[in-house]
Amino acid sequence: MRARRPFVAGNWKMNTTLKSATELAAGLAKLLPQDIPGVEVAVCPPAPYLIPVAAAIAGSGVKLGAQNCHSSKDAGAFTGEVALNMLQDVGCEYVILGHSERRSLFGETDAVVNAKVLAALGKGIKVILCVGEQLSERQANQTNAVLETQMAGSLANVAGDQLGNLVLAYEPVWAIGTGLTASPEQAESAHVFLRQWVANRYNPQIAETLRILYGGSVKGDNAKLLLGQPNIDGALVGGASLKVDQFWPIVAAGIEVGNG
Ligand code: PEP
Repeated sequence: MRARRPFVAGNWKMNTTLKSATELAAGLAKLLPQDIPGVEVAVCPPAPYLIPVAAAIAGSGVKLGAQNCHSSKDAGAFTGEVALNMLQDVGCEYVILGHSERRSLFGETDAVVNAKVLAALGKGIKVILCVGEQLSERQANQTNAVLETQMAGSLANVAGDQLGNLVLAYEPVWAIGTGLTASPEQAESAHVFLRQWVANRYNPQIAETLRILYGGSVKGDNAKLLLGQPNIDGALVGGASLKVDQFWPIVAAGIEVGNG
C-alpha cells in the first residue's frame, strides 16, 4: 500500500447538463459503491449541479468538490458568488482553488487565491490548490521560479497543520485541455521541486505526507505511467472526467498504484 493514498479528482468545469451530470455521478457511484483504502475519488461539478450530484453519489466512495468559492467569511452582498458555508451545506468536502483558468480568465492573483485558501481551510473545506507554469515560462527555464512564486503567494499565512487539509495539483498550463501531457519525468521533476519547497517552508514530515496531483491531459492510457512516479499522488482530470468510461481507467490506475 502506498504511503500517500492516490487521489483522483474530476474537474467538470462548465460542462454537463442536469441529466448528464446526474448520470455521470450515478455511473461512478455504481463503480465505487464505497470508500476504499486504495484510492480517494472526487467529482467537482458546476455549482448548480452540486445538489443532484451529491444525491447521486450519496453513500458511495465518490466525494464532492466545488470549482470555486468566495473568500468572505460572512454571507452578504456578493452578487453571483458562492459562499463556503453554502458549499458545506450541500456536502462539498473539497474546493478547487487557483486553477489556471481562474487565474488567466478571471484575473485571480496569488493574493486572491490565498484569501480563498485561508477561508476554505478556516471553514474546514479541503483545498485542491493548483499551480503550474505557462509554456513560455517553461521554455525560458522559469518553471521552478514560477512555481515558487505561486506557492509562496497562495500559501501565505497558511500554517503547517492546515496542510493536512490541502492537496496540491501541479498543472502545467500548456498541458491543460491541449492533449499535450507532461512526460512522467517532467512531471516528477516538478513534483520533487514542489515537495522540496514544502519541506523547506514547513518541514520534511509535512512535505512527505502532502499529496501532489498531476493535471494536464491525463487519460486512461497515460495515467498509470504518470501515477506510478514516486512523487505523483494522483490526478486532477478535466476532459477525461466527463465520461465514466474515460474517467474510470484513471481511477483504476490510482487503485493499482495505491495498492501496489
Ligand atoms: C484541468 O482542467 O484541471 C485539467 C487538467 O484539464 P484536462 O485534463 O482536460 O487537461
